[in-house]
This record gives sequence, C-alpha cells and structure tokens, in this order.
Amino acid sequence: MQTAAETVQPDAAPYLRGLGGIIGQPAVVSVLRSALASGRPHHAYLFDGPEGIGKATTAKALMAALNCMAPPSAGDACGSCESCLKIASGSHPDFIVAHMELAGLADEIERLIKRLCFRPVEGRAQVVLIDPADQLTAPTALVAANRLLKTLEEPRPDTHFVLISTSANGLLQTIRSRCQRLRFVPLSDDLIRQALKTQHALDEETALSVTALSQGSLGKAVRCAQDPDSLKKRQTEASGLLAAAKAGRAVEICQRASEIGADREEAVEVLELVWLSLHAELRRHGKLGLLSQSQRLAQALRAVRETQTAIRRYTSAPLSLERLGRHLHGALGRAQLQPAQPGEHAR
Ligand SMILES: [Zn+2]
Repeated sequence: MQTAAETVQPDAAPYLRGLGGIIGQPAVVSVLRSALASGRPHHAYLFDGPEGIGKATTAKALMAALNCMAPPSAGDACGSCESCLKIASGSHPDFIVAHMELAGLADEIERLIKRLCFRPVEGRAQVVLIDPADQLTAPTALVAANRLLKTLEEPRPDTHFVLISTSANGLLQTIRSRCQRLRFVPLSDDLIRQALKTQHALDEETALSVTALSQGSLGKAVRCAQDPDSLKKRQTEASGLLAAAKAGRAVEICQRASEIGADREEAVEVLELVWLSLHAELRRHGKLGLLSQSQRLAQALRAVRETQTAIRRYTSAPLSLERLGRHLHGALGRAQLQPAQPGEHAR
C-alpha cells in the first residue's frame, strides 16, 4: 500500500496540483480555469496535439480540480485530500478510463454508456478518459463510435469526457462537433530541460542531449531519461560516426552508416546528437571568432538536417548516412578521405 509521503510528490505527479501543475500549455490551462471558475466546465473536451506534451496529465489535473476536497483556488487541487490521493494511486472510482483496444471496443463503449447513467460513486464529478480517441476512426470501430455519440452529446451534468487525439482532424465530424477542442502545443526546450533537471535529477549536459532528442515532447524526454543506456549507446554511435568522418576513415563510415541506418527512427535520433555536438562546436568557434571554421560547421549542420529529412522520407538510411559521412569529411575533415576497398562495404 502506498503511503501519503510516497504519493504526494508534486514533481512526480504534477496533476496533483490540478491545473497549476501543468507546464507549457498556458492557453489550454486558461480555458479550463475559466470554465472551472464559472462552475460550468464543458461536458466533452477534445485534447488535440502531438504525443507526450501533457494531454493525459491535464485530464488527470482536471479530474483532481473537479473533485479536490480543499482546492486552494478554482482549477487547482490540494494534492493531499482523500480524493487527490486516490487519483494519484489510480484508485479513484470516478476517473473512468475506457479500454480502447479495437477487439471488443463496441462492448466496452456499451458498458461505459450503462455506467454513465448513474451518478459518480463518491466524487462531485466523474471524468471519462477516451485515449486514444483516434481508435474510433478505425473502420471496425464505427459501431462503437456511433453508440458513443448520444452520451457524448448529453451526458449527466456531473460527467465530463476527455477525448485525447494526436490527429483530431481525422476523427468523425459528429464526434468533433460535440466536443470543445483544445490544442496542445509542443513544449519549449527550456521547459523540458528544466523539468528534466528538477523532476528527474539529470545533469545539465545529459538534460541538453535528452531535450534535443525529445522534439518538444516531455513524455519522450522522460522515457529517454529513464533509459540512460539507450542514450549512451546513441551518444557513442554519434561520436563514432563524427570521428570517422572527420578522420576520413571511409571503411568505418560505411560500417557505422550500415549499423546506425538499420533502424530509421534510431538513425534520426543519432543524427540529432551529431547535430548537437556540431552545434556546440560552432558556438565555441563563434566565441573565438573563427569565421571560416564557423562557416564550415554551419554547412555541416545543414547537411545533418537534410539527411534527417531524407531518412524520414524513406530514402535508404545507410546510404544517406554514408553520404553525410563523406560530406562531413569534406566540410570538417583533417586528412584526405581513405577510400574503401571493394567488398569492404557492409550495407
Ligand atoms: Zn485535494
């Protein structure tokens, strides 16, 4: 059983402070705060935006704010009352999470609709989380989606839906029109870096690398921070590729390109670290006023970005990386490129 000390860590569970714990989404928080202050929160919200930027956390914050027994102000939560503690431990009976696996989705929605005929079990309000709502767009989910419509349009006054989507434009118009749509934006690098340092005790250098890999998604950053081995492996691959390119070791460039390029997504992330390393170098040279070296680094940075774009567009990742290796050597190399012998390529 969890003790209060284990569950009430504002940094570990930001939603326990209600909307006050949500970072980087001022527009969304402002809309929800006004709704709660007026006592008329919408019956169905559609939280729309990329992965890992606080949509599910905000749904929990809304639940906490609606049910907190001693809210410091409208929209916030105390983090220590019985209701807040139950939300933290995942045992609040009025926070209803729909199981969105496609097999049996129609039955799940049916069960949900029946349950929502009744008042909340113990709180003032119940929140129904539909995550990911994008599942409702699957052809086999049409029956489930249509069954949901009536309840979604007119639930009991103490019931609030939160639908979470990464591509809300793809949802049925009939679902979208019943919800108030709130757009979540990617978080700034500064916010992510700060969160990594304060909430996950990362040092500055690691926080910088993880932030660069996260592309505005705190969720992704946290997953990355929790898996330092993968990060270390990527860092080794990035510095290996860069060193081989600078030294002009063509055989090694080919080998590394082939290894890194075996996984397209992984390759893009390794290149993000290559970019970061070159960018740090550029800043150092800029400070020293070394103009020609700075220009060559800027050219190299552009080449890294172009390679990432090419790999995302399904150009062969090993070939793109190999081409980049040669390009980086041209821009930054200290020695002549040592040509690969026929048959030495490992693709
Ligand atoms: Zn509370």
